[in-house]
Amino acid sequence: MTICVAIIGSGPAGYYTAEALVKSLGDDVCIDIIDRLPTPYGLIRAGVAPDHQSIKGVYRRYEKTNLLTNVRFVGNIDVGDAVTIEELRDLYDAVVLAVGAPNDRPLGVPGHDLDGVIGSAAFVGWYNAHPDFEALDPNLNIETAAVIGNGNVAVDVARVLAKTPEEMENSDLARHAAEIIHNSTLKHIYMFGRRGPLEAKFTPKELGELGVLTNCVTVVNPDHLPKDVGEVDPVVRKNLAHLEGFSKNEAGSKPVTLHIEFYAKPLEVLGENHVSSLKMERTRVEDGACISTGEYFEIDCGLVVPCIGYRTLPIPGVPYDNDGGRFKNENGLIDSGLYCTGWARRGPSGTIGTNRPDAFEVAEHIATQISDNDKPGRSGLDALIKERDLWAVTFRDWKRIEEAETIAAEGDAPRVKFANRGQLLDALK
Ligand code: NAP
Repeated sequence: MTICVAIIGSGPAGYYTAEALVKSLGDDVCIDIIDRLPTPYGLIRAGVAPDHQSIKGVYRRYEKTNLLTNVRFVGNIDVGDAVTIEELRDLYDAVVLAVGAPNDRPLGVPGHDLDGVIGSAAFVGWYNAHPDFEALDPNLNIETAAVIGNGNVAVDVARVLAKTPEEMENSDLARHAAEIIHNSTLKHIYMFGRRGPLEAKFTPKELGELGVLTNCVTVVNPDHLPKDVGEVDPVVRKNLAHLEGFSKNEAGSKPVTLHIEFYAKPLEVLGENHVSSLKMERTRVEDGACISTGEYFEIDCGLVVPCIGYRTLPIPGVPYDNDGGRFKNENGLIDSGLYCTGWARRGPSGTIGTNRPDAFEVAEHIATQISDNDKPGRSGLDALIKERDLWAVTFRDWKRIEEAETIAAEGDAPRVKFANRGQLLDALK
C-alpha cells in the first residue's frame, strides 16, 4: 500500500512534513510538494534576510528530502488557479496546506493604504527578489523611514535599509533593491514599538547586529529603559544589555541614525496621496497591556513599513479563522484528509525550527488516520498538468536555475536571484 500525499507549499513547513512522513511511513508514502513559484524553499528564499546566509543554509537539509525517490517537487503550479484543492483532494489520500502566511496584517489606522506604506511581506519580498514584488519600486529618496513593530522582521528591515553595499557584499540582496537602497538619501530610520523593552519580541542576536553597523548608529531613549527589572527571562536580559549600550550612543554620530522608540503606537498615516508623516500616540504598559495616554507626536517620513505580523491567504472552501489569520484546525486537522502545518496552522510565530515538531505531529496524524484509498496521486496530477498544458518545474529544473543564479553572482555574493518568473523560466530554455 502507498499513501499519496500532496503538500502545498515548499517552505520549511512543507519540507519538514515530507521528512516526517518518510520517517514514519518509509516507502509506503509518495509525496508531491507543490509550489506556485518555480523555486522551492518558501521563506528560506524569500523571507529570511539576504544577509543571514547561515540561516538560509538549512535548505541543504530540504535538498536531501528532495533527493528521495518518493518525494517530488512540482513547482510553477498555482493551487487554486491551475489546479483546485478539491481536485487534489480527489487525487491524493491526504492534502497538507503548508502555504505559510504571505499577506500582511493591515495596520488598521486611517491612511494605512497611502502610497509609501508598504507592509513587511511586500517589502521583504521585494528585497529578497520574490517575483510578486519585483515592481514595488519604493521611493527611498527620502530622509526618514518608519518601521512599525518590535519583532525580528522589523529588525531585519531596519538593518537591510541601514547596511552599506560592503556590508551586503556576501548577501543575495535583490539587484533591483540594492540599486535603490544603496542610492537612498535616508538619514533617519525609526523603529516604533507600541509596548516597552520588556515586551519586545526581537531576540538578542538580531538586536545586537544593530549595534555594529558601519554607517548607522542605533540609539534609544534611556528614559524608556527599565531601571530595576529584578529577575527576567535571559532573552529579555540580553536585549536590555544591548539597549543599554544603544542608549549611550549619540544620534547623528554616523550618516544614518536608527532610533528605537518604545511606547509609541501609530494613530494615523498622513499625506495627500503619499505618506508624508506619521501621527503617533505615546503609550504606557500596565500588566503587559498597551495603554493610551492621550499624548501625541508626529514625525515626517516618506516610507512606513509595518512589520506587525502576517495572515494566511484564505482558500475558497477551506474553513478560515479570520481573527487568527489562519486555517481553522484541530491540531493540524482541517477536515477528513485535509491538514495544515506551519504558519498556516498556528499563525506567524516561532523560528524555522518551530515548524519541525509541528510538521512531525501532522505527519503522525496522517500516518495513523489515513489509509491507502487507491487514489492515483502523482499520476493523476501529471494527467491534469498534461491536459491543461501547465509547465511544472522539477527539482532537477530548479537545480539548473540555481546553477544559473550562482554563475551570475559576482564577488562574495552566493547568487544573483532572478527576480521574475520570466527570468527564472528562461534559465531552463
Ligand atoms: P512578531 O515577532 O510577532 O512581532 C510583531 C510586532 O508587531 C510586535 O512588536 C507587535 O507588538 C507589533 N504589532 C502588532 N500589531 C501592531 C499594531 N497594530 N501596531 C503596532 N505594532 C503592532 O512578528 P514578526 O516580527 O513579523 O516575526 C514573525 C516570526 O518570524 C517571529 O516568530 C519571528 O521571531 C520570526 N523571525 C525570526 C527571525 C530570526 O530569527 N532572525 C527573523 C525574522 C522573523 P505587540 O507585541 O505589542 O503585539
